[in-house]
Parts: sequence; C-alpha cells; structure tokens
Amino acid sequence: MTDRLTAVVIVGARGRMGQTLLRTVMESETMTLVGAVDRTGGPGLGQDAGRLCGMPECGVTVSDVMEPPRGAVVVDFSLPRATERNIQRCLEIRSPLVLGTTGISPEARALLKEAAKELPIVSAANFSVGVTLLVRLAELAAKSLGQEWEAELYELHHRHKRDAPSGTALRIAKAVTSAQGRNFDDVAVMSREKSDHARTSDEIGIMSLRGGDSVGEHTLMFLGDGERIELTHRAMDRGIFALGALRAARWLAAGRAPGLYEMVDVLGLGRF
Ligand code: NAD
Repeated sequence: MTDRLTAVVIVGARGRMGQTLLRTVMESETMTLVGAVDRTGGPGLGQDAGRLCGMPECGVTVSDVMEPPRGAVVVDFSLPRATERNIQRCLEIRSPLVLGTTGISPEARALLKEAAKELPIVSAANFSVGVTLLVRLAELAAKSLGQEWEAELYELHHRHKRDAPSGTALRIAKAVTSAQGRNFDDVAVMSREKSDHARTSDEIGIMSLRGGDSVGEHTLMFLGDGERIELTHRAMDRGIFALGALRAARWLAAGRAPGLYEMVDVLGLGRF
C-alpha cells in the first residue's frame, strides 16, 4: 500500500498555501508527506510539519534543505526570489516539480523552460479547476466575438498579495490576446492614470484591487454596443488550489515525459 502513495515535498511550508497543502496531504489517503521546506532563518524551521499546520505530529521536520527521496514530487508555493534556486535543486535531484509560485522573473521562466527539457513540470498561475475552465472559455469567447467586443479584466485579492496583476489575470488576458492574434505586451494596459487618449480598439485593460481576505476573484468582461458578457470566477477557499496542485503531483507521479505542462493537461480538458 505505502509504495503506491505519491510522495510529496512541500516548499514554502510555513506560508498560507504551504500550510493548506500540508493539511491536504496529511488528510489524503493517496499521498504521503516526505519533506517540508521553508526559507533559511525563517520561523518554523526544526518544527514538526504536522504541528506547523495545526495537525497531529507527522514525523517530518521543517527544513531549509530540499532532500526528497527518489521519486518524490516537489510542490513549490513559496516566493519568486526562491524559484530559480528551487528549479535548480529539482534538476540536481531529478524531482518532478509542481510550481505554483506567481510573479516569477523572466530569468526564472527561462530556466523553467530549460528544466522542462529534463523534468516533467506542471506550472500554473492558478491550480483551480474553475479558473482552468475560465481560461478556455475566455479563448472561446474572444475567438467567437472578435475585436468589435472590447475586453477588460479586473481582479481582487487579499491585502498580503505581493504581485500585481495576479498571475491568473495575466493568464486570462494572454488567452484573450492570443486567441485574437494580438501580442499581449503591445496591447495590455495596466494603468490609465496618465493616459491622454480614449480607449483604443485593440487594448485590454487589467485592473488589480487589493484588500481584506479575498482568496481571489477574476472578472473578464467583453463589452459590446448595448450588451456585455461577464465571466467571473471567485475562489472561496485556498484549499481548491491545494487540491489542484496535488492532483497535478499525482498526475506527474504516474509517470510523465519531460515537458512543461499546464492544468488543462492534468485535467484532460484539451485545447481549443
Ligand atoms: P506566503 O507569503 O504566505 O508564503 C510563502 C512562504 O514561502 C513563506 O513561508 C516563506 O517563508 C516561504 N519562502 C520564502 N523563501 C523561501 C525559500 N527560499 N525556500 C522555501 N520557502 C521560502 O504566500 P502564499 O499566500 O502562501 O503564496 C505563495 C505563492 O503561491 C505566491 O507566489 C502566490 O501568489 C502563489 N499562489 C499560487 C496559487 C496557484 O494556484 N498557482 C494559488 C495561491 C497562491
């Protein structure tokens, strides 16, 4: 029985997502926790990972070194400054990786692509099933409606979120622009503060709201003359991201070729 469990290491263990992931693994009958990692010098190091997340002791000590046994999947929800080092470590130890950290640098993204030539990796700005589907619906709507309908997007997150716009907002906006054959960097507008002209027909506005304890909301609007379509996703509990990320970990553990995968691949949703 034990050898059929998916062995996972949680990186960023003390964080909001880290603790949710730890609890989800410990409550699961298909996974086993083999490592919990957080930053050097941070609080929580040396503590039992079960205690850290409000569960009974589990015998795994929180460490600042990633040393998983062979075959374990690394699930990283930490901070962008840690991403390059964590990818490099996964390469050294040949561990498949589920990467949830958002706001990562262009250098880290380039390294991720390189690493995916050697390792199977699932990377997503949002591991929820609902948002994965929303991205597909955004593509479908953008293709069907064409550029006469103007696309605008806003997102709301808790007061602690550091990156803006959210990785999910960028993902949704890029799905719209690529479905319409436009280059995202040419048409994305993140602020209109100093704008001295009316909206151009091809831009896509992205607005970030921060406050309270919102786990994450995204609304994509397609604005036409006399009518409007709004696609909204609201995350009520960060457990949905943990469930999705751990589903991705089990999918990788089942044996995947090296490559950079998305949640659509894990969910088998296919591509439009
Ligand atoms: P958080 O600030 O609560 O936790 C981050 C944790 O990472 C902290 O415990 C911190 O000490 C730790 N950390 C920092 N440097 C580290 C290092 N070098 N090695 C290991 N751990 C290190 O943040 P959070 O709300 O838990 O979010 C974490 C990340 O996950 C963010 O980038 C967030 O945007 C992202 N996120 C992604 C999804 C998704 O579905 N992809 C969902 C929610 C959050």
